[in-house]
Amino acid sequence: MTAATVQIFEARTQDADYFRPTLTAAEQRRAARYRVAADRDRFVVSAGLLRQAAGTDVGRWCQRCAQLGDHGQPVPLDEAGMPVAGTALSATHSAGTVLVAVSRDAPVGIDVEALAMTRAWSDADREAFDRIALSRPERAALAPLSPANADRSRLQCWVRKEAALKATGLGLAVAPSELEFAETTLVGWPAALDPFFSSGVTVTDRALSTTGVIAALAVLSTDECVIVHEPATYPARVLPAAS
Ligand SMILES: [Zn+2]
Repeated sequence: MTAATVQIFEARTQDADYFRPTLTAAEQRRAARYRVAADRDRFVVSAGLLRQAAGTDVGRWCQRCAQLGDHGQPVPLDEAGMPVAGTALSATHSAGTVLVAVSRDAPVGIDVEALAMTRAWSDADREAFDRIALSRPERAALAPLSPANADRSRLQCWVRKEAALKATGLGLAVAPSELEFAETTLVGWPAALDPFFSSGVTVTDRALSTTGVIAALAVLSTDECVIVHEPATYPARVLPAAS
């Protein structure tokens, strides 16, 4: 039995200054178009971390449009700007945390969400969330939990599902309520996803260096998964030139 190796890179959006000089000219132009500083920083750190993980320029490939563009999943590019086959990338962000997963052995998907978002939820929000995100047995499993534990469980379920759907490249084109998890085991999915899931999917919850966020990684492989959580390796900071 072989092993599928996955590396996870983690960084904070507050460290955008470290990553900005590593962006391509096109990425710098795109960053400059963000009007909200927090969105710009998130874009800069995501782009910089993706480049670090891939070791190349990174583009976006939309499976539904079947083309390179400004949306879809990240893909490493060769020197001609074409997607490189055989390297899977996935990126996610929430509450100042940016994560990138990369593997040369199997498709990967990663997702992170901040627990703080559940604090603003009303009962109607919870009902809507459960209808969109959860299967019937998953909803039933929330009933005996305290409100705080139920919200944590909702988000845990969500990051597992989004990670699994991102690994397929389809993302939220599939209704999350059509997937079913028992703990971290994917036990149900629509027949259309057989090509992705029937030969095996490994989902794990990820502990991060910051609290208040929860994350999951999905790997489309039944091989043993070797997951390496990279320490933040920030590029050297380029200080502004003295005038
Ligand atoms: Zn598209």
